[in-house]
Amino acid sequence: MNCKECNNEGYTLQPDYYHDVMMRVNCVECMSHEKMKQELRVKLTMVLMDLSMNRMARLLSDTLISLVDADDNPDFERLVALVGAKNKESLVSLLQVMV
Ligand SMILES: [Zn+2]
Repeated sequence: MNCKECNNEGYTLQPDYYHDVMMRVNCVECMSHEKMKQELRVKLTMVLMDLSMNRMARLLSDTLISLVDADDNPDFERLVALVGAKNKESLVSLLQVMV
């Protein structure tokens, strides 16, 4: 999301006239957006929970390959190496880092 309120800083500067300084105030738009995403995540998880393991594995594979491919300098060698080593934890970590 591109926040027009805070320009993706996560806060806005508000004048504190009593202390004659500018205060950092958490951006309401960003906090609201994060809350919406968290609620959606919970609901989405509940909906997807019934999918088969095979289908989830296929979906995660497609997602990871697409994320690697979308990089300016795709590192498929790393992905191929992790798949060859069947390193599930590193594959999950890679996915978490890329999203
Ligand atoms: Zn914001």
